[in-house]
Amino acid sequence: MKCPFCNATDTQVIDSRVNDEGDSIRRRRRCNSCDKRFTTYETADLRLPQVVKSNGNREEFSDGKLRDGFLRALHKRPVSAELLEEALHHIRSKLLVLGEREVPARQIGELVMAELRKLDKVAYIRFASIYRSFQDADDFRDVLKDLK
Ligand SMILES: [Zn+2]
Repeated sequence: MKCPFCNATDTQVIDSRVNDEGDSIRRRRRCNSCDKRFTTYETADLRLPQVVKSNGNREEFSDGKLRDGFLRALHKRPVSAELLEEALHHIRSKLLVLGEREVPARQIGELVMAELRKLDKVAYIRFASIYRSFQDADDFRDVLKDLK
């Protein structure tokens, strides 16, 4: 960690303290060059990534939109709300684990497909048919082949 006063790279942690909530660490550092002291804070970076749409626009990741996508595909299908929440949770965790600032919408679409495939084949085909919009017959054949 560089010294903010003289830019020297040789700085040293002289004290570390976890805050009361336990979600951040405060470190006192000393520069070995100019002997000034400064404080840094360390917190976990657990923000969900921005979604990059196919037209290049960015938007905030939206739980609501993700849920809507699932609900449309699962309309009148025998899948419990609990399993749906679990699937949403899987996707959120996978996105957090990726640790990327931005993720293409397409990649989220693939995660949704993977979850739907486990939940309900009909919903999976429904979602896939809209999502991939079956540009040609081969796409559709691939989806059906996946189900076997
Ligand atoms: Zn310094």
